[in-house]
Amino acid sequence: MPEQSAFKVAIVDDDAAIRRLVRLFLQRAGYETLECTTGEEARRRLVAEPWDLAILDRRLPDLDGVLLCHELKSNPDFRARYIIMLTGETEQEDKIQGLELGADDYITKPFQYPELMARIRAGKRIVDLQKELMETNRRLELLSITDGLTKLNNHRYFQDELLRAFEESSRYQRPLSLAMIDIDFFKKINDTHGHAIGDDVLKAVSNLFRESIRSTDLVARYGGEEFAVMMPETELDDAITFAEKIRALVAENAIDTQVGPVPATVSIGVASVPFTRVRGPKDLIVAADKALYRAKKAGRNQVHAEKRRDSGRATKKTAPAAKAS
Ligand code: GH3
Ligand code: MG
Ligand code: MG
Repeated sequence: MPEQSAFKVAIVDDDAAIRRLVRLFLQRAGYETLECTTGEEARRRLVAEPWDLAILDRRLPDLDGVLLCHELKSNPDFRARYIIMLTGETEQEDKIQGLELGADDYITKPFQYPELMARIRAGKRIVDLQKELMETNRRLELLSITDGLTKLNNHRYFQDELLRAFEESSRYQRPLSLAMIDIDFFKKINDTHGHAIGDDVLKAVSNLFRESIRSTDLVARYGGEEFAVMMPETELDDAITFAEKIRALVAENAIDTQVGPVPATVSIGVASVPFTRVRGPKDLIVAADKALYRAKKAGRNQVHAEKRRDSGRATKKTAPAAKAS
């Protein structure tokens, strides 16, 4: 669990004496406080500033507290916050309405401070639990889209994002490029140095890819020793230049491992819309895969791009001298 930040209670009441007393009780109990004297002030500050629990007076000079409560609770960002309404003693209808409109609890005026503090502690328990749940969800969500070994995004996430990017590129007629990268003779690295060193090589090249892409690009571990890079707003030529940079980086920098430097090379296939005429993201993957296959067949440690379908002309960039080993 990350360290819990302080628990902040907002006091929204036009009565200065109540505000002051509540503040003193809260501060004595170790809570942070935030005070608003009008509905408008609360409306502004409770959206802009952090808080966990609000004590909200129903009778505000400029606004019905219940409406403000409803407004806050209708916002998904505030669903996990806790609101205690302050209502007049006899106004049972108010209490019902307040609860119906999103209040989590209410307390009637005039109230006893021990009761208010007990209700705040009860609210804090629920807010803390909700925070924990949200943090767990966030971590699970991250886990479900992350590859455990390389910490890159995984295949599933990449597929989803490629579909989204493809739709956007079609709608706005913007270029979108894809590079499929496969480590050459990776089996040999495993066979020579063992699986653990193979894993280190996968991690090292992943870091290299991660550091090389632009913030708008996405790199994922697509399979065992295969990676995919999605480059929105990138024309084919620029994607080839990028792929060539990556290829050279891997080829020129042997990977530091426990058994010493391990040389590696990659083959890369590039496809790009609108250059490559495809109907959907799957076709784009097929096109990049075909180019990758040709890069392998031509000797590895090379970048190839998919042929243009209508012209039959191949665009190809080959590594200068380096030979795959
Ligand atoms: P090519 O140049 O044709 O791509 O040859 P290659 O040896 O790289 O390709 P091949 O598909 O024959 O072998 C890929 C190897 O990658 C086989 C598999 O055991 C290994 N591999 C897959 N995932 C992992 C992993 O997570 N860790 C390690 N160490 N090896 C893996
Ligand atoms: Mg391979
Ligand atoms: Mg492979």
